Amino acid sequence: MAQRTRTRETRQRRVVYETIRSTHSHPTADWIFEKVRSEVPKVSLGTVYRNLAVLKDEGSIREILGTDRRAHYDADLSPHAHFICVDCGQILDVLGVPPIDWRTLKDLVGCEVTEQRHDFQGRCAACSLAAKAKGN
Ligand SMILES: [Zn+2]
Ligand SMILES: [Zn+2]
Repeated sequence: MAQRTRTRETRQRRVVYETIRSTHSHPTADWIFEKVRSEVPKVSLGTVYRNLAVLKDEGSIREILGTDRRAHYDADLSPHAHFICVDCGQILDVLGVPPIDWRTLKDLVGCEVTEQRHDFQGRCAACSLAAKAKGN
């Protein structure tokens, strides 16, 4: 690969990563693409997807499946759980959830655990209020 191409790819990957890091909204690839495009006008959606896959593989970002059935991305790797609203789809960080000791779980004996995830689902405060106002 030509040096210039490699430099461009490295730069695009850094912009993709910085874009995810700049927000706590757990954005989708489409949202990231729009943001990256304002900085790198010639970037394609395919390039953004490829960079997301590389960043995920190297462990720089994590992927969360939303209630909208789309992949969302998070560059905050500190231990935290997520609350996902089933109405508006927003994903909130939940701090202070103690990790469970999976070594005591008999079905996990012999399995190599690489990640422990916690997702909560339900209605966020705003959607919960809206639902009550509508009477359900
Ligand atoms: Zn909501
Ligand atoms: Zn998060």
